[in-house]
Parts: sequence; structure tokens; C-alpha cells
Amino acid sequence: MANDDFDVFSADNSNANEESLRMVSANAVGNEPVSDEELRPHILEGFIGQPRLKAQLQLFLDAARKRDVPPDHILLAGPPGLGKTTLAMIVANELGVPIRVTSGPAIQHAGDLASILSSLDAGEVLFIDEIHRLPRAAEELLYIAMEDFRVDVMVGKGPGASSIPLTLPRFTVIGATTREGMLPSPLRARFGFTAHLDFYPTEELEKLIERSAKVLGLELDEGAAHQLARRSRGTPRIANRLLRRVRDWAIVHDLPIVEPDDVKEALALYQIDTEGLDRLDIAVLNAIIRNFNGGPVGLNNLAAMVGEEAETVETVCEPYLVREGFMMRTPKGRVATARAWEHLGLEPPEGSAVDVSKLF
Ligand code: ADP
Repeated sequence: MANDDFDVFSADNSNANEESLRMVSANAVGNEPVSDEELRPHILEGFIGQPRLKAQLQLFLDAARKRDVPPDHILLAGPPGLGKTTLAMIVANELGVPIRVTSGPAIQHAGDLASILSSLDAGEVLFIDEIHRLPRAAEELLYIAMEDFRVDVMVGKGPGASSIPLTLPRFTVIGATTREGMLPSPLRARFGFTAHLDFYPTEELEKLIERSAKVLGLELDEGAAHQLARRSRGTPRIANRLLRRVRDWAIVHDLPIVEPDDVKEALALYQIDTEGLDRLDIAVLNAIIRNFNGGPVGLNNLAAMVGEEAETVETVCEPYLVREGFMMRTPKGRVATARAWEHLGLEPPEGSAVDVSKLF
């Protein structure tokens, strides 16, 4: 497998099984789509962080409201768990219109999309999650519907088939994608507003955790939110999940208030360390450092050493390890950085400092 061209936002669900076992997965797992609901803010003001995006969206919605027309179509791009679905729900709520929810993989044929489109009411929001996974024929139907508010409905079969254009009321598509680059440019061009969601800094996650704790009826002592935030990999979904596990801890130990040390102990039980690395992340770093003297090591060797599929290591662990500067991907293989050695409590050996220029 090539060692280059990887995507740090890689968020395909192809490793759903391995992911579903991970506390630090950014994808929704188990019954989380349901439990996510209770923690979702419903108005833009309640959406924590992403200040520039919020200001842009506020202006965009205010203008649509003043003009009294449905807003242009909106594309929300970014890694999983950062709030794309939440924002789509907020937009519909702020506009006071219903929202219809579907996803790229749920639409198997263009006809599935045509029937959704033809049943939309005026002003309704159509949320399409994972829009990059729409089948090609559905994508083409969607361009036309988004631009001309029209679908061509096929009547009959074979040579006698004909298409009847059906005019649609004005509506707003909100597309969400973890892979903006995979969207064909004609589709991308149909969106009047594109927002990129970024990973959240620790201070913003702290606020988010404090808000969620209130909703869950959990009292956090000073510093507890910070301990949770720094383990949350910049991702609200992970922050909320870790908070729920800390709540379990507080319930079982009859704690009226959660101290920072409770957070440390509760999350240590799940093998999540101070930087949000879990057992597998640590195994990968350990293998590079202890078995390959810091690297470079090829992906397949590394995966064999930790007893995982190469794809799991590549898509599940590496994006975060690279983003946080624990490891580098170079054409010669994976290399542990000084930060990784230090994180494992080790000194990089004399003369082994990585000369990056030799690796590329
Ligand atoms: P995505 O659609 O990008 O995968 P979601 O919108 O489903 O992510 O968000 C996952 C969870 O994180 C939800 O419970 C949501 O309420 C919470 N969340 C995400 N972003 C924010 C935010 N900015 N403020 C408050 N909660 C958030």
C-alpha cells in the first residue's frame, strides 16, 4: 500500500466494527444516534465554538428571513462528530420549517430521491448526510432539482417510456460530507453556502462539556471539564461520550460532584490516556518505537506487530496520531516523533533524531 496521499479526515465507516469498540471513535456507535439527541443544541446561540462559521450562518439565515424566501443550499464539510447534523437541525429550527433527513447510502436509486423530492413542502429543509455517497444517477437528478426546482419523473418502461417534468416548490438542501473532495464539482457548485467545520480547541470543548453536564444533571468541579476536554480529540461527539462514562462512574460511586481525579480514574479504566490516546494508539506508537527503533516502518509490518488489519491502523489510529504530531507518514514509512517518545516516557536515543529531509 502506498505510504502517501492519506486523508486526515478519513471517516469512512469501512472500519465500523473496530470503530464500534472504541471509546474515542468520532463516528456514532451503538445507541448513540439516540443519546446524541438529548445533548443537541436547538438554536444557533447554543451551538458552542466555531465563531466565524456561526456568524456567517447567522447572517445568511437573517438575510433569508428578511427576504422571506428559503435560503440557498448549504454544504457542511468536515470530520465526523463535529456538529454537521446538529447545525442542519438548528437551521431548520431557526427558520421554523420542517426537516427531512436522509443519507447518501440510504438512497440506492435515483427514483428513491425523486420520490423524496416530489413530496417536499415549500420551504422544507432536506438534509442529506454523507452526500458524497449518493449514486451517480441520484446526484444528477439532485443538481437539476437544486437549480431548477424540477424533477423529471419517468413514466412507463422501455421504448415507450417518457419523462414528465414535475415542478417542485422552493426548498433548501443541506448536504453534509466528511469527504468534500469526493463531491463532483457540478454538485458542489449548487451550494450557495459552504461551511468547513474544524476540530475544537480544548477551551471550547470545556464549555461544551459544561453545557452537556448541565443537561445530564451532573455537577463538575473546577478542572474536571478540562480533564475531559483534553482527552476528547477535538471532537464534541467524543467529549459527550466520555462525559456519559464519567456520569456512570459518578452514579456508581455516589459522587455528588465530579472532581478532576474522578475523570482521570474513570477514563483510565477505559484505557484512555491524558492526550485522548487509547490502547490501540499506544500499541502503534510502542511498536514503532520499541520494535522498529522509531521507524520508518511500513504499514503492513506495523499492523502485523499490533495484530490489526493495515486498514484499521491507517484509518482508525493514524489520522489523530499524525494530527497531534505523535507520528509522521513519510514515503519510507511511519516514523514516531520526539513527542511520541516523550509521551511513552522514553528519551529518543542518541543520534536517532529524525532527519526529515532524508525521509522525503
Ligand atoms: P456530525 O453530524 O458532524 O457527525 P453531530 O452533529 O451528530 O456530528 O454531533 C455529535 C454530537 O456532538 C451531538 O450530540 C451534538 O449535539 C454534539 N455537538 C456537536 N457540535 C456541537 C456544538 N458545537 N455545540 C454543542 N454540541 C455539539
